[in-house]
Amino acid sequence: MYESKPPSSAGRKGWSLDALFGRGAEADAPLAVAVIAAEEHGANDLFPRIGAFLRGHRLDPTPGNYDLAYQYLSGTDPVLVASVDAAIARDGRLLGEVVKQIAESATNQVSSELLEKLIDQAHQSMVLAASLVGQSRSDASAYGSALDKGAAALDAGGEPATRALELMVEVTRTMIGKTQDAERRLAEMGSKMESLQGDLAEAQFVAESDPLTGLANRRAFQARLMSAMAQAQAEDTPLSVAFCDIDFFKKINDNHGHDTGDRILKMVADALSDGVGEDAFVGRFGGEEFLVLFDGIMARRAAMRIDEIRDELSGRHLVSKTTGEPLGTVTFSAGVAQLLPGEEEGAILKRADEALYTAKNGGRNRVVIHGED
Ligand code: GH3
Ligand code: MG
Ligand code: MG
Repeated sequence: MYESKPPSSAGRKGWSLDALFGRGAEADAPLAVAVIAAEEHGANDLFPRIGAFLRGHRLDPTPGNYDLAYQYLSGTDPVLVASVDAAIARDGRLLGEVVKQIAESATNQVSSELLEKLIDQAHQSMVLAASLVGQSRSDASAYGSALDKGAAALDAGGEPATRALELMVEVTRTMIGKTQDAERRLAEMGSKMESLQGDLAEAQFVAESDPLTGLANRRAFQARLMSAMAQAQAEDTPLSVAFCDIDFFKKINDNHGHDTGDRILKMVADALSDGVGEDAFVGRFGGEEFLVLFDGIMARRAAMRIDEIRDELSGRHLVSKTTGEPLGTVTFSAGVAQLLPGEEEGAILKRADEALYTAKNGGRNRVVIHGED
């Protein structure tokens, strides 16, 4: 680290190291403060600890659990820390249950707060990196002018040559030290930012996707629908929504078990994702219900695409992977609604759901367009 020299050594002749660099020890303050701020933030070792916490307690990496681990490990909420500690002290095994309860009560809003925190941390690291680069640049130019002045002093012959050379060597050594220091800090920051970026992407994925099917979850789907609707309304382009619900799914669970039910959910999710087309977006609304957003597509065409998927799926004769027993066929019903001028998100979903209800009542395994039943 650079140390300012007392002006008495070279100050007499009008150029000390302080004067050459144009600053004393306090001029390092912005950099030092920034580094301390980053260290105090402590985010960089927090994320691996969150991962270890979740793994250690066998908690799924859901947004709620992720946020809970974050809150617990960062210690921001003493009541929460105390209740988790109490649960650990009581019985480590119970922790999963306690966490589950707390996580269930945590709203989606909490996970968006977490995302905001991560984005904020990434932003702070970027500001810090930028300040380091700026610092190095000004150090380099101070170094250049220090050498110029040294060379000028040598040329003028006013300063004893050995003293001038000594100072120039000192300046060079200081600059090399500073450059190495800045390089090391930048490299450290680069890797911290990389891991932060990974954490951010992971947190975003966890917050927006359904773990079983890999589809967008309800919240992510609704966000996408809202923005697509706003654009469709503004540009006066068509937009349709399909509500799909697996038929008699409860029976599948009852007859073949929940795990088979899960595999069928994934199969239907894949069939929808693969079949709806590049310009459509699929989400899991919950349970055995899926939503498809057809942006720029009228209800008729949307219904045709869904019907093709329904038709293909209903022709599959399924066999249990584990027991080899035949599972029969799986079908779904769907309701499609096209966006009306000025319509709200809740209203179009309600109309799609009404059409779905009609499809169910009409005998299932069919697609109904709202208003055409
Ligand atoms: P309908 O044709 O009228 O839609 O009948 P249904 O049996 O499909 O509808 P119902 O709403 O009665 O049952 C839905 C079932 O879906 C009940 C619930 O246990 C099951 N389910 C919801 N989520 C999951 C899940 O993630 N995995 C599994 N295996 N089953 C689920
Ligand atoms: Mg249902
Ligand atoms: Mg159903």
